[in-house]
Amino acid sequence: MTWKIPLSDITMGCEEDDAVRDVLRSRWLSMGPVTEEFEAAFARYLGVKHAFAVSNGTAALHIAHAVLGIGSGDEVVTPSLTFVATANSVLYCGAKPVFADITGPGALNVSWEDIAAKVTEKTRAITVVHYGGYACDMRPIMEIARDHDLRVVEDTAHAVGAAYGGRKCGAIGDVGCFSFFANKNLSTGEGGMIVTDDDRLAEKIRVMRSHGMTTLTWDRHRGHSSSYDVTDLGYNYRTSEVASALGIVQLRRLEENNERRRDIVKRYRRTLAGIEQIECPFGGRENGKSSHHIFPVILSADLSRAGFQAALKERGIQTSIHYPPVHLFTYYRRLLGDTRGSLPKTEFVGEHEVTLPLYPGMSDGDVAYVCTAVEEAAYG
Ligand SMILES: *Cc1c(COP(=O)(O)O)cnc(C)c1O
Repeated sequence: MTWKIPLSDITMGCEEDDAVRDVLRSRWLSMGPVTEEFEAAFARYLGVKHAFAVSNGTAALHIAHAVLGIGSGDEVVTPSLTFVATANSVLYCGAKPVFADITGPGALNVSWEDIAAKVTEKTRAITVVHYGGYACDMRPIMEIARDHDLRVVEDTAHAVGAAYGGRKCGAIGDVGCFSFFANKNLSTGEGGMIVTDDDRLAEKIRVMRSHGMTTLTWDRHRGHSSSYDVTDLGYNYRTSEVASALGIVQLRRLEENNERRRDIVKRYRRTLAGIEQIECPFGGRENGKSSHHIFPVILSADLSRAGFQAALKERGIQTSIHYPPVHLFTYYRRLLGDTRGSLPKTEFVGEHEVTLPLYPGMSDGDVAYVCTAVEEAAYG
């Protein structure tokens, strides 16, 4: 199906074409100098000491929990209103995700009060998700972590360029994890980044990303070493020079793209404010600076979501749901038991949320077209 207005779209131009062609002509495609340049640029942008490019955001999350020493018998408090990879990465390490509820339909981030309520003597970490690019309330969350000696992982997949309290999201906790998947604000098709200020963690990340090996093929190619040791159980979570070349150009576009997203969201909010069946979360409570990754709306309980989405689809507008709660998935119910009803706010949003199109290339006319369709669907 070709959409008149898709849910998301990437912004790419000749600069990306040229950057990829340069890599192909260099004859070096696996991780090397272009990746090093991307990592350095990303670390500088974020204001962190270390950034490691990886194959995707899920790999970043897996490595983050692994290098923090999280394993069997440990618990990690995390939201259920997220992409399944957040919780899966805890399971990869043999630990148990413990789900905390969100603040409410007006603020879809994990609630620090519920995080505090879910901490037990087994808790080792809090893994937050900056939903939609809106920063979590990190001040009380970091305080809870300090009080209970917990590590903090930031799933920053939505929030590249977002900020809170003078720091960029991803640079607040112990480790930040980014995704550069095809629909993210900064896209390399597949890709991710893991960042930290901790030198000891950085060394572990470096090794774990490439089979636990002490040197890279690139190091040996340059004659910097001729052999290697394996010091840990690692993975192949490397990226490619092609992805990194795209990343360098995409990073240069990021601020401008995020500004355009902000502008579109302002238009959406202004136009939709009068529709009483629809609530636009995070209005006036941005909690820092959002990267506006997605634009979620919450339908009132008497409005059929299926009907609403069908009405928009009829006008060529693609919508989506963020998210079916993780704790309600078959696999998670089998693993953790039937916990339906345990996270009432998450479950309400899981049933009534709709995500509207948002991407920098949307024209003001596109936004108006979606708003009119939303209005008709709401009153229809
Ligand atoms: C996209 C996303 C991920 C996973 O990233 P991949 O690059 O697809 O592995 C993790 N968490 C959230 C919240 C995401 O949106």
